Amino acid sequence: MSRAFVGAASQFELTVPAPADGTTRARLGRLTLTHGVIETPQFMPVGTNATVKALSPDDLRDAGASIILSNTYHLYLRPGHERIARLGGLHRFMDWDRPILTDSGGFQVVSLGDLRVVDEDGVTFRSHLDGSTHRFTPEVAIAVQETLGSDVAVAFDQPVFPSSSREVVAEATRRTHRWAERSLVAHGRRDQALFGIIQGGLEADLRTESSDFIAGLPFEGLCIGGLAGDETPAQRDATLDLVVDRLAADPRPRYLMGLGSPADLLEAVHRGVDLFDSVLPARVARNGQLWVPGGRLNLRNQRHLDDPAPVQDDCPCLGCRRFSRAYLAHLFRANELLAYRLATCHNLTFTLDFMARIRAAILAGTFPAEMAALRVRAGRLSGGEGAVKSA
Ligand SMILES: [Zn+2]
Repeated sequence: MSRAFVGAASQFELTVPAPADGTTRARLGRLTLTHGVIETPQFMPVGTNATVKALSPDDLRDAGASIILSNTYHLYLRPGHERIARLGGLHRFMDWDRPILTDSGGFQVVSLGDLRVVDEDGVTFRSHLDGSTHRFTPEVAIAVQETLGSDVAVAFDQPVFPSSSREVVAEATRRTHRWAERSLVAHGRRDQALFGIIQGGLEADLRTESSDFIAGLPFEGLCIGGLAGDETPAQRDATLDLVVDRLAADPRPRYLMGLGSPADLLEAVHRGVDLFDSVLPARVARNGQLWVPGGRLNLRNQRHLDDPAPVQDDCPCLGCRRFSRAYLAHLFRANELLAYRLATCHNLTFTLDFMARIRAAILAGTFPAEMAALRVRAGRLSGGEGAVKSA
């Protein structure tokens, strides 16, 4: 039997709930948004500047992307959200007709802003582009996202690194709660869902408090923030277990922000997470690191220069269908732009195919039994490489 959450601008139907025997918390869902339906668990490629670097919208569709994330902070600074609105909104501007989630800008304000002063009302920061001074409040972050016209907006929060002191985490978490309430009051766009962010760092009691507080507000989805940073995998797992425990009976989608290596995605799905985003697959692709079943290829390695085989035999991506490892290795060594496109197509295809395999296993009821094989396919891409956050 399925159950559904019906929000003002979204619906989330759990088509296969987590099994009652506790072998896994992985579940299958269908999230309906203004611009389309996405199957969960799902990964969102990141289009920072209204483009997933090096890819066209057709490339993204071919890779299997059903939803992308775009960054409020970046679009606000350049080219400006009001300009995008005048040009028909974000979907029209970038010619992407499927769902878009915009983040709140909170993470970028804190991590990229040169000068940053946090007070109770908001954050004053200097643009990393030209040094100009700006101010984000919950109301501004919501207004920018409403102007962009994303399918899902996210409440403004104050993220802190997982390793921050308890005092810092406590203050930021409670401010995030007050800003969540203000974000809800400020939000009025009826064709846009609003998600709230759970913070609390690695402090169990603060995570519990934040889970209960944010879940107590009428958001249409629940983000888990403040992870995918400098925590250990064990710390992340423990925190996720704690949060998902509190949300066990909650019908809304759960979105872990900033996680992107296949190995990490698999473990988080197992712990009950539905949505993910990360720049990681695209970023490592641009460095010549191609993800393949069981590990990765470094195309900058000389041994690929004479290899006529594709990067991955059974991969349907543009690069693997038509080109050899030797050709891609040549493009990287010659710093040719096509290298970035082909490598990014491959890593996103691999990641989105991996999520499809996870969904197929959940649907078949064999996910716990297939975990070992999926771990092997994911390779060992956890730890430091998995910690690259959205930027
Ligand atoms: Zn490929």
